[in-house]
Amino acid sequence: MTNKLRYFVANWKMFGHLKSVNSLNKVINFKKKNKKAKNLKIIYCPPFTLIYPFIQKLKKTGIKTGAQNCNFGSNYGPPTGSINAMMIKSLNCEYVILGHSENRAKGENDNIINKKIISALESKLKIIFCIGETSTQKKRKLTKKTLLSQLSKGLKKVKNKKNILIAYEPVWSIGSGIIPKIKDLENISNYIKLFLANNMKFKNPKVLYGGSVNPKNISLLNKIKNLDGFLIGGASQNSDKFIDIIKKTFN
Ligand code: PEP
Repeated sequence: MTNKLRYFVANWKMFGHLKSVNSLNKVINFKKKNKKAKNLKIIYCPPFTLIYPFIQKLKKTGIKTGAQNCNFGSNYGPPTGSINAMMIKSLNCEYVILGHSENRAKGENDNIINKKIISALESKLKIIFCIGETSTQKKRKLTKKTLLSQLSKGLKKVKNKKNILIAYEPVWSIGSGIIPKIKDLENISNYIKLFLANNMKFKNPKVLYGGSVNPKNISLLNKIKNLDGFLIGGASQNSDKFIDIIKKTFN
């Protein structure tokens, strides 16, 4: 088993109902039986409606919970239908995913994401900050330029970098079944880490990969030694598949 700390973030997107909480039993048991796996960090990010039931279910299991987005602003206020970091933190939730491409596609720009990151850190949430290029940007060979821009703008004036994980999620890979070439992914992960260390004052940058991770391709992805874990959408909603991915990573 590898000694390296590995993150497995389950993004349940807009899926799940109250009874889905029971599907956590298998993962809880798996974690219990693998007590030696201190280097295994599982974070469940269900929709807002399930954050509190997940937190209750996952109490004392070592498995953490995160939100999939939040509004900026650290007080109560008028934006109808919004939930901010302070409200998420008040549930004892520890993480929040920000900058996900599905939210960028709805108009969330780098400036808004930056405000959300600052506000979430003020509320003592840990951030899973998603970046990634579209297929058009990839075709135009703009991947690195896009990532640099998203990182610099998203992290502008962010002082404390300790609680930020970067999730590299090429937009063309999310939900498509297609993953990047291993060499490309290794190269990009390295590039992101170097940029964060050299230009953004990160002490120990951590990069996760997200996009169509499943039990079939995980062994291949796991060859990339400079990744710190995975952000898993579709496959994380099935506990057997999720456990299989984790097991194969540690083999
Ligand atoms: C995601 O939505 O962050 C994601 C990685 O989705 P999928 O694994 O389904 O591609």
